[in-house]
Amino acid sequence: MALMTGEQYIESIRKMNMEIYQFGKKVENPVDDPILRPSLNSVRMTYDLAQLPEYQDLMTTISPETGERINRFTHIHRSTTDLRNKVKMQRLLGQKTAACFQRCVGMDAFNAEYSTTFEIDKKYGTHYHDNFKKFMLYCQENDLTVDGAMTDPKGDRGLAPHAQADPDLYLHVVEKREDGIVVRGAKAHQTGICNSHEVICMPTIAMGPDDKDYAVSFAVPVDAEGIYMIIGRQSCDTRKLEGSDLDVGNVEFGGVEALVIFDDVFVPNDRIFMNGEFEFAGMLVERFAGYHRQSYGGCKVGVGDVLIGAAAVAADYNGCPKASHIKDKIIEMQHLNETLFCCGIACSAEGQPTESGNYMINLLLANVCKQNVTRFPYEIVRLAEDIAGGLMVTAPSEKDFRDPKLGPVIDKYLRGTNDVTTENRLKILRLIENLCLGTAAVGYRTESMHGAGSPQAQRVMIARQGNLGMKKKLAKAIAHIED
Ligand code: SF4
Ligand code: FE
Repeated sequence: MALMTGEQYIESIRKMNMEIYQFGKKVENPVDDPILRPSLNSVRMTYDLAQLPEYQDLMTTISPETGERINRFTHIHRSTTDLRNKVKMQRLLGQKTAACFQRCVGMDAFNAEYSTTFEIDKKYGTHYHDNFKKFMLYCQENDLTVDGAMTDPKGDRGLAPHAQADPDLYLHVVEKREDGIVVRGAKAHQTGICNSHEVICMPTIAMGPDDKDYAVSFAVPVDAEGIYMIIGRQSCDTRKLEGSDLDVGNVEFGGVEALVIFDDVFVPNDRIFMNGEFEFAGMLVERFAGYHRQSYGGCKVGVGDVLIGAAAVAADYNGCPKASHIKDKIIEMQHLNETLFCCGIACSAEGQPTESGNYMINLLLANVCKQNVTRFPYEIVRLAEDIAGGLMVTAPSEKDFRDPKLGPVIDKYLRGTNDVTTENRLKILRLIENLCLGTAAVGYRTESMHGAGSPQAQRVMIARQGNLGMKKKLAKAIAHIED
């Protein structure tokens, strides 16, 4: 089975035996949990769209390894066209879900592991690349969703992993056996982990010789013994328990993050992709982060498209679509959003092959892309809230709207243009609220700041990649300075 249907995907997650906690209780079945289900629906979209002929070229590709049609989320990029198609696919999925669809972290981990394991093996004669390729083929053949786990809790940010007061604040090897290793620690902010089949763990920073036990990378099923997850709260999450579609804003789709604990988890030898080669930790981090910073030039743009559309609909319903300042604000939102897309496409078009043969994005441009993402969605949100008006945060609940006494009053006084129902006006405002302040704000707004690395992480990379020395030479040449 090279491609799963959406329904097969849902049932495959139902069959897993994950240990998930939320609100102090064990979640018996995430598939039927009202708070978690919308996030599963977003991942499902990566399967559903892959079945449709009109999206086949974007959502799927032929695996060079097996000759089979596979989902692009399990593909190793072999050209700049592949890299551009990845970004376009992510924009499409952002448009269809208005949420984080979660499956990209695994795709980005795949491509970072592919080239890094190749280079470790070249230096040390290890077999990590073969291990990784075997795992990759298993995921391609079974169309699996893979989580990419990088972010350790990190404790005291001023101390290296081995120097922390608590040795578990970075995930590390606690036992080496004949048949594998045992790892302990945690990964924070894990996007989509409870909707994934497998998880690839990677180090979170460059490491030194004393951090050898922390320089570890591997893949395990998310229901492996010793793994458990604590679901993160999202703003307005319990609205999903109230039974009101109107109040939720985006009833079908969402994203999810969790704190994932690795409580002495066994990893068999053939699932290990790095084990002690500390000088390659930085390479893996830089490549994974680079790919994920490219990703944001796709997914956030797609969600931005929905928010821009919602703001324009709100303006229509308010009766002011032709006001010059409204038109100008919508133009500004589009300008900002398309600038992010330009960055995603540019870092892809400027990609280069690695030693292993897969394609890497241009690191400088990918970091510029993500740096812009830490700013522009905030401005887009500001403009959307400006256009929507205060009602997006003061509108009464659906229960009041359905009440025999209050409903007609709300309908009368909260109407905009007379040809649009008050209910539709409230629906579009709730969607804007969801994207700017509610559950989707995790994926659109704050994740734009911290996802794929906080702003300073990109500035470090821009400083490293920006080639300031060359620019100084250019200036001196023009100014006729010889020194
Ligand atoms: Fe994909 Fe964007 Fe979510 Fe990252 S934030 S997993 S790139 S949708
Ligand atoms: Fe993310």
